Amino acid sequence: MDIFIQYVYLASATMFIIGIKLLGSPTTARRGNLLAATAMLIAVIVTLVNREVLNYGMIATGIAIGTVIGAIMARTIKMTAMPQMVAIFNGVGGGASALIAISEFVRITEGNLSLIKQHEEIAIMLGTLIGLVTLTGSLVAFGKLQEIITTRPITFPLQNIASGVMFAAIIGMIVYLVTVDFNQIVFYVLIGTSLVLGIQLVIPIGGADMPVVISLLNSYSGVAAAAAGFALGNLVLIVSGALVGAAGLILTQIMTKAMNRSLVNVVFGTFGATGSSGGGNGAVETRTAKGASAEDVAVMLAYARSVIFVPGYGLAVAQAQHQVRELADLLEAQGVRVKYAIHPVAGRMPGHMNVLLAEANVPYDVLYDLDDINDDFKNADVAVVIGANDVTNPAARDEPDSPVYGMPILNVDQAQHVIVLKRSMSPGFAGIDNDLFFKENTMMLFGDARKSVTSLVTEVKSL
Ligand code: NDP
Repeated sequence: MDIFIQYVYLASATMFIIGIKLLGSPTTARRGNLLAATAMLIAVIVTLVNREVLNYGMIATGIAIGTVIGAIMARTIKMTAMPQMVAIFNGVGGGASALIAISEFVRITEGNLSLIKQHEEIAIMLGTLIGLVTLTGSLVAFGKLQEIITTRPITFPLQNIASGVMFAAIIGMIVYLVTVDFNQIVFYVLIGTSLVLGIQLVIPIGGADMPVVISLLNSYSGVAAAAAGFALGNLVLIVSGALVGAAGLILTQIMTKAMNRSLVNVVFGTFGATGSSGGGNGAVETRTAKGASAEDVAVMLAYARSVIFVPGYGLAVAQAQHQVRELADLLEAQGVRVKYAIHPVAGRMPGHMNVLLAEANVPYDVLYDLDDINDDFKNADVAVVIGANDVTNPAARDEPDSPVYGMPILNVDQAQHVIVLKRSMSPGFAGIDNDLFFKENTMMLFGDARKSVTSLVTEVKSL
């Protein structure tokens, strides 16, 4: 039986790897997701037929509760709240791995201590530490994304030193527990310190850096699962945890590159830290932005040769992707060249804009990444910014004092005309004002993006 289980685990692990590979392209991603989910189902079923399972009643209750919560969340969650859901999933994943490690500790300390091997002790400690840091760190990330907690960095004097001291204390406790005495009190202090460290590591991180933090926490949750797998001696948990850990780390690297940041900088610096203006000097805004009517904008678009749409988080909130597609089709029918500029951190999760536009069947070949489109803005007649803000803020490029200085942006201000669709002058996720709105060539079309784009469609049709 044991050998049969190991073979099925191996098959599941292979399916996970092929599934991840298929996730690499939008055309095969659904198949990849289904394959990996099937692999997980097989791994769970096989684990349940394992004779080491002591209490099927408890497991059935857990599965029933989890299924109900999961199904309700999956059906009711709005697309715009997806990143928060990912944050919660990372958190509960880390928490579950920590609970496995903690229960192994309890089981071992109540049994025969001489039977425990040192690598199992280390796995228990690391599973507890990383799992709990992931749990509380992800809860803070959830709070920031949900905007229950301020998206600005929460800082206090000697913060990094405090984190360093906590981390050193945790390492000291782990060394003591593994080499000197498997002591329950020290272990419980380790649990408490890990919980606080998770909060402490994420609160100083500012809004604009959240994409990096989410990917990093995702990676942590995988490493915690792998550690729990070592503690239990469970192959499939080790492999799947390692895959999540590695994939999360690669995503973290992609996101840090997209933000022009180093990981050390994200964790110990405070990006998007201060200031209420683009320059971060806290000055009260006295300039006024120029407003435009849907009619004016429709004329400008219909008579343009080339138009670049720049989608952002507001497009997702307004769910205006179908109307944008309709507008693009109308313009293309009139001979206008339409492109879409996709910033890697636009929206609230990696790939957010691609997913939205794919939903409206926007062809992939008109979607351009930041590096591929940035030189085109100077040749574009009109750039239409739809619910994007931070990813277009020229302060990130031009003002060394700005808290977002250094983050790559879409050079929309270089287009001949810029139209910004948003509801008000409110800032974006990083909480800073945007000079783009006051530029000579910029006009604001205020209102919900779906309503504004629908009006543009009507106006273009009537021309
Ligand atoms: P921003 O958050 O900078 O701005 C979105 C804008 O959309 C707001 O200024 C808002 O203005 C407008 N908006 C909101 N609702 C509507 C609506 N119904 N109709 C029209 N406009 C609307 O978005 P960006 O996409 O430019 O930037 C993403 C930000 O999120 C970056 O700071 C990024 O670092 C961060 N982030 C990204 C993640 C990722 O993985 N992609 C994850 C976590 C954070 P108003 O209220 O006036 O309408």
